[in-house]
Amino acid sequence: MNDTPHLHDDSPADRARAARRDAAVAAAVRQGLVTAEQPVAGLLDTAALREAAGALHAAFEEVAAPGQQVLHAFAVKAAPLVAVLRLLDELGLGCEVASPGESALARAAGVAPQRTVLDSPAKTAEELREALRLGVAINVDNPQELARLDSLRGELPSGHPLPPIGLRINPQLGAGSIDAMSTATATSKFGVALADEGARDWVLDAYRLRPWLNRLHVHTGSQGIPLSLMTEGVAAVYALAEEINAAAGRPQITGIDIGGGLPVNFASERTAPTFAEYARLLRERTPGLFDGRYALVTEFGRSLAAKAGTTLARVEYVKSAGGRAIAVTHAGAQTAVRTVFAPESWPLRIDAYDSSGLRKHEPDLAQDVAGPCCFAGDLVARDRSMPALAADDLVALLDTGAYYFSNPFSYNSLPRPAVYGYTADEAGTVRFATVRPPQSTAELVAESGGSCAGALTAP
Ligand SMILES: *Cc1c(COP(=O)(O)O)cnc(C)c1O
Repeated sequence: MNDTPHLHDDSPADRARAARRDAAVAAAVRQGLVTAEQPVAGLLDTAALREAAGALHAAFEEVAAPGQQVLHAFAVKAAPLVAVLRLLDELGLGCEVASPGESALARAAGVAPQRTVLDSPAKTAEELREALRLGVAINVDNPQELARLDSLRGELPSGHPLPPIGLRINPQLGAGSIDAMSTATATSKFGVALADEGARDWVLDAYRLRPWLNRLHVHTGSQGIPLSLMTEGVAAVYALAEEINAAAGRPQITGIDIGGGLPVNFASERTAPTFAEYARLLRERTPGLFDGRYALVTEFGRSLAAKAGTTLARVEYVKSAGGRAIAVTHAGAQTAVRTVFAPESWPLRIDAYDSSGLRKHEPDLAQDVAGPCCFAGDLVARDRSMPALAADDLVALLDTGAYYFSNPFSYNSLPRPAVYGYTADEAGTVRFATVRPPQSTAELVAESGGSCAGALTAP
């Protein structure tokens, strides 16, 4: 997958990001961020995050009507790091949250409840109560949740304003290339399955009986969903909004949440597809979405953060088995869960650096790049042609700014790696800021019930 560098396809911004990354790796080594004691860290390119947020704003400004309200709510699960959420808030983005923890992160970052959207197929009564109280927009997943909201509304003091509330719709359009990421299949666990018998009538009734329902939501999937399928999902929900409003004889639906899911190119440096391409396709397919009658919400995650992140890990040993060269590194399933467990769906580019953080130019050798976890499948690349690795070298797992080091897997009691944000000036001077400190061994013990050590033995 890594054989053809699509260099000619890269934009100047893509090339600048790659150059900043090389500078950051060398600086991380010089400044002692990745050492024998701390052998793995996440690095986040602040300028790349800023650029992605800017590109998202520009893409929708280009297609939206003048003055049309557009809230870009960052999907917190893609990079649940408080400093990232605060940066994005400062750049004009809100948050999409789907658990009490994600809600707390958004609040810790200072994101206003009015700029927060609550999803999740399993919201508890307490989560819904809090959203109603604070004014967090709610995307309701199913009829039982709607019934629960009916009664929770009754608990609010009279005159308490309701946040925007709508149903999540599953347009049942089918899957993309990764089943686990496809949320709009016929039997997906998400939302109200619109094409099921009687479902459309149920939805129309639900809105007729509840004049306070004023949104619709769709999220067709994440990574592997073709733009055409995403666009059809949005078109289906737009058509439903028009139908509800026609039936109501008034603009009952005032906002449409089109979800996230813009795929990321993990095969080369190039940023593709772009937010602009997607926004233009949406306008072509559904011009009415951009005539100013609806407030819009988006929920992008991966496409905002993936290309800003690099996982940097030391090579501890190199060895061979059955004729295969194997580099044993400190980046495995604990930081690259999906790549390790579903390697066909989640291949990553990997760059090789020497122990001082300079790019290696040794001749390519087919190698396995393994992680530190104690199970045989803990490989981030198999039979990968890349410069021959040696002990004390570094490997960089590219495009890992979303759903990788920020979403660690607690296996073998390996600690959560540190995350450092970086900026690099024209002269190549790199400055780091700690976004998340490395987890200490003492914290690991505490997390594993260290304070309950005697719980199962006689006093
Ligand atoms: C995960 C998720 C997103 C973000 O998806 P990306 O592929 O990261 O853009 C948005 N909305 C909902 C409801 C999600 O579950």
